[in-house]
This record gives sequence, structure tokens and C-alpha cells, in this order.
Amino acid sequence: MDCIFCSIIKGSIPSQKVYEDEAVYAFKDINPMAPVHVLIVPKKHIASINEVNADNSGVIAHIYEVAAKLAAELGVAESGYRVVSNCGADAGQTVFHLHFHLLGGKALRTEMC
Ligand code: 5GP
Ligand code: ZN
Repeated sequence: MDCIFCSIIKGSIPSQKVYEDEAVYAFKDINPMAPVHVLIVPKKHIASINEVNADNSGVIAHIYEVAAKLAAELGVAESGYRVVSNCGADAGQTVFHLHFHLLGGKALRTEMC
């Protein structure tokens, strides 16, 4: 399967890693939309939220634990940040390997849509 984030996790495409454990990989977004813009992804390929189910949903809770830890380390836990996952065309998903954007370091726009 040709998946850019699987290649990043394997190391065949370089990335600026900020965190890694047995289940999760986190790295700086190549086109940052905020001073802090990290992508947190499960190592196991899941295409989008549409593929989350009872068998694989444990990693989602773990990703939120990692998000809280990284927000503290990156200095935005108190100032505030957003964790968001785009699903499908209308949401603007461009990479079909589930990922959570961790955004902060400035006052983010408040529009939800
Ligand atoms: P989406 O639009 O699917 O929610 O987010 C995909 C994100 O992946 C975008 O913010 C984009 O900048 C980022 N991205 C795409 N390709 C690469 C890459 O090769 N390296 C890194 N670090 N980020 C990427
Ligand atoms: Zn993948």
C-alpha cells in the first residue's frame, strides 16, 4: 500500500519526530498552520475515523493522552490548543492515514465550519 504516513513511520520518508512509542508516532506538519502544528498518528494504518471500530479504538484514547503530554512539552497546555481530525472530502482530508492535528501557539480561529 502506498501511504505517505506509513512511509514516515517506517522512516523511508524523513520527518521531524516529536514523539514515538509502540502505538503512536508524532511529527511536525510540513506546512504548519500555527506555531505549534504536530500530527499524531497511529502506527497501524487506519484510513480515517470511518474505519475506527471496537477492535482499534483503544489507540484513539492513547492519542489523546499523547496530545496532552505533547501540549505540555511544547508549551501550549495553559495557553490553549486544538486537536482535530479531518474525515473525508468535505472536511478536507488529504492524507488517508488517520491523523490528529495538534495546533496551538496563537489564538486560533473560532469558526467551526
Ligand atoms: P489533512 O488535510 O489530511 O487533515 O492533513 C494532512 C496534513 O499532512 C497536512 O497538514 C499536510 O501539511 C501534512 N503533510 C502532508 N504530507 C506531509 C509530509 O510528507 N510530511 C509532513 N510532515 N506532513 C505532511
Ligand atoms: Zn498509512
